[in-house]
Amino acid sequence: MSCVSDIMDLVVKRNPGESEFHQAVKEVLDSLGLVIEQRPHYQEHQILERIIEPERVIMFRVPWVDDRGKIQVNRGFRVEFNSAIGPYKGGLRFHPTVYLGLLKFLAFEQIFKNSLTTLSMGGGKGGSDFDPKGKSDNEVMRFCQSFMTELFRHIGPATDVPAGDVGVGGREIGYLFGQYKRLSNEFTGVLTGKARHWGGSLIRPEATGYGAVYFAQEMLATRGDSLEGKVCTVSGSGNVAQYTAEKIHHLGGKVVSLSDSNGTIHDPDGIDEERLAFVMELKNIRRARIREYVERHPHAEFLEGKRPWSIPCQCAFPSATENEISGRDAQTLVDNGCLLVSEGANMPSQPDAIRVFLESDVLFGPGKAANAGGVAVSGLEMAQNAQFISWTREEVDQRLLTIMRQIHENSRRTAEEYGCPGNYVIGANIAGFTKVADAMIDQGAV
Ligand code: NDP
Repeated sequence: MSCVSDIMDLVVKRNPGESEFHQAVKEVLDSLGLVIEQRPHYQEHQILERIIEPERVIMFRVPWVDDRGKIQVNRGFRVEFNSAIGPYKGGLRFHPTVYLGLLKFLAFEQIFKNSLTTLSMGGGKGGSDFDPKGKSDNEVMRFCQSFMTELFRHIGPATDVPAGDVGVGGREIGYLFGQYKRLSNEFTGVLTGKARHWGGSLIRPEATGYGAVYFAQEMLATRGDSLEGKVCTVSGSGNVAQYTAEKIHHLGGKVVSLSDSNGTIHDPDGIDEERLAFVMELKNIRRARIREYVERHPHAEFLEGKRPWSIPCQCAFPSATENEISGRDAQTLVDNGCLLVSEGANMPSQPDAIRVFLESDVLFGPGKAANAGGVAVSGLEMAQNAQFISWTREEVDQRLLTIMRQIHENSRRTAEEYGCPGNYVIGANIAGFTKVADAMIDQGAV
């Protein structure tokens, strides 16, 4: 099995029905042709054949009792994809769309993202088709305890260190950690995204969003530009979207949208600190819908069932979910003058959309580079836990900024080296891949 297209055929055949996984692998393989040509030893060591196969997949039943006393059953997963450069690391997602193929896509992406961070972390991802929406705190707690009752035997601070993702925030991490501690009888840094007062890192909640904005600043700087005065659209209204909006505002940009799965709010005056505080209370405390924003701010508009991509902007920050920008959306963004897209979400742009952005010379920061700030600060949380210390807010933020600059520079330089200047997709994929591939060769056929 030698060429990249043969490997892709193998992936499709071996993983039927897992369209997101196929999409994620294809995007990486499409970038690797040049490397494989120039460095034939990767083929001699069957690196592609090995890197597309998870080292381990764990699937389990998660029974829990709802508030009416009825037993519910969900499915739990952990995909431990690659540990060549460190313990498996990646979030847990609780969402009704979760199935094995979705988590394989996310875990596969995580391998290269984690490699780019400059820290020692392998790639993993997990979660459940459990939907926290509409559940009471006690139901969420009972679910998390049952989920961890199986997961705990597979993870550990030097084995696999999960974090949050869609549907898994501070509340869920707390319940998961509590049950891990109880079962293992150990207080260790086995999860990241913990609360500040029991082992969490400052800036971890902010890290993914801040990082995506730092990455955008770096891309703009290559053209002598900045976020100052730019009109920005942001999708989603969860963790990543909130802190993306906050950092854009800090850096002088104007955020004009947020969204959830019901629709988009468009605030042409801009979402400033006070309005964002309202959104944070709405989403994180009351767990309500984003449409309430327009009840409080009637000059804003609610676009029912719509995504933000028809709103004219110069910079777009997709921060909700995968495949949320179609080729047509991308064309609309470009036609309206969009000059930058920085992906806070994982794989939010469909392949056609990426093509449109690259052909239109849009500065396009792919998720595995642009949103790597979250896992990078998770890595910093692990480092602080291991030393029983905690760094200040300023120190962690500065380290995050430095890491995002390194990721940007590494992706930019690699793209240039391989003859594709300005193509951060190719740059990030190749830079992330080579470090892992070299480690796999060093470690033999394991
Ligand atoms: P949250 O659960 O905090 O928020 C998710 C947001 O996206 C919500 O507004 C949600 O709306 C919306 N959303 C989720 N699924 C869909 C869908 N199928 N269609 C439309 N809207 C949807 O998650 P995060 O902010 O943590 O994650 C957002 C994205 O960022 C994901 O792609 C995640 O993988 C990625 N990411 C997250 C990191 C992190 O540190 N948290 C790190 C790197 C990437 P609703 O409430 O209606 O569901």
